[in-house]
Amino acid sequence: MKQHIFLASPHMSEEGYEQQYIKEAFDTNWIAPLGKNVTEFENEMCEKLGAKKAVALSAGTAAIHMALKACGVGRDDIVFCQSLTFSATANPITYEGAVPVFIDSEEETWNMSPAALEQAFEKYEGLGKKPKAVLVVHLYGLCAKIEEIASVCKKHGAVLIEDAAESLGTTYKGKYTGTFGDYGIISFNGNKIITSSGGGMLLFNTEDAAEKAAKVLFWATQAREQARWYQHKEIGYNYRMSNIVAGIGRGQLRVLERRVEKKREIYKYYREHIGNLPGISLMPLREESRSNCWLTAIQVADEAGVKPLDIMKALEADDIESRPVWKPMHLQPVFHDCDFVSEIENLHIVDEEMGADNSIAGTLFRRGVCMPSDTKMTKEDMERVCGVVRKLWEREDV
Ligand SMILES: *Cc1c(COP(=O)(O)O)cnc(C)c1O
Repeated sequence: MKQHIFLASPHMSEEGYEQQYIKEAFDTNWIAPLGKNVTEFENEMCEKLGAKKAVALSAGTAAIHMALKACGVGRDDIVFCQSLTFSATANPITYEGAVPVFIDSEEETWNMSPAALEQAFEKYEGLGKKPKAVLVVHLYGLCAKIEEIASVCKKHGAVLIEDAAESLGTTYKGKYTGTFGDYGIISFNGNKIITSSGGGMLLFNTEDAAEKAAKVLFWATQAREQARWYQHKEIGYNYRMSNIVAGIGRGQLRVLERRVEKKREIYKYYREHIGNLPGISLMPLREESRSNCWLTAIQVADEAGVKPLDIMKALEADDIESRPVWKPMHLQPVFHDCDFVSEIENLHIVDEEMGADNSIAGTLFRRGVCMPSDTKMTKEDMERVCGVVRKLWEREDV
């Protein structure tokens, strides 16, 4: 029997660090959404990444929500959001009654196009509207053009939030993603590069980081005023990370570099073993950036003769998990009424069935496959995956 190969599954430390931290929590009876593991996890993350402040939360989605609240995003405010991403990036914008405007990607980084972002500011300022925040994503661990995007934000007086949920460990010019924007968010969901079984963190990089972090902590713990009785002046949330979950996170953080190394090896293996098949290209790694290569995503050209779906089906038949590239938010029925800004003129649907258009994001979605990138994969597993893919091309050749 062949073993199932996962897309990306939890991979606890070889040393069992996670269980040591959990045991400590049990021994001291800190089985609560506070305790030493939570505080230390925040401190250790700040130290590792070079963030000013961090607040551990129940999910990356909660961290995005809190970041938006911290920048004062409220009803009818406009937030510019990368279209090519997971829905968790965009959903929290609506929690506060704000309005997302989606921005197209660029081919070079797959992430938000700085030129399209500039175009969006000009359009909305022309309408007399001033967007409050920009949400950029480092998709699959690929670093966005973060310096360019930061300077567009600065020019127009908007706050920059980096969704680094998929890019923990990715650096640009030696600096970690999540520390370039005013705020950065990380996720420890089960499929991310390190996991706490579920959880997230909000990073603060502004001058008033301590003050902002205190405010987020207040909202995330039910917005209780300092009083002898239960007094509330604002709506609160139950978003704090538990001490048990934080224990897993602390253990995982100690092996982050090891996981990045392995993910990068997986990327290189794919590049060497399927990267030269006609019509296949791998996601682009930027110079001056070290990607964590969370998932190796590929593009299959229309001329390849093999379709992305053929690859996914062939892998599935061999008990190997793969995934499509995220379907852009501007193509989602739930965001149907939202505006989308792209450098491409003449936007139109190219694939009716998928609902994909000719935007950059739409094309990356239509041609994309996320290859299994599980850090527990052996050389034999990777060879098995590549063998399935190569076979499809051999079939095409005859
Ligand atoms: C996973 C993910 C999130 C959400 O994180 P959760 O911890 O699952 O809430 C947000 N944005 C992106 C791009 C993600 O991949």
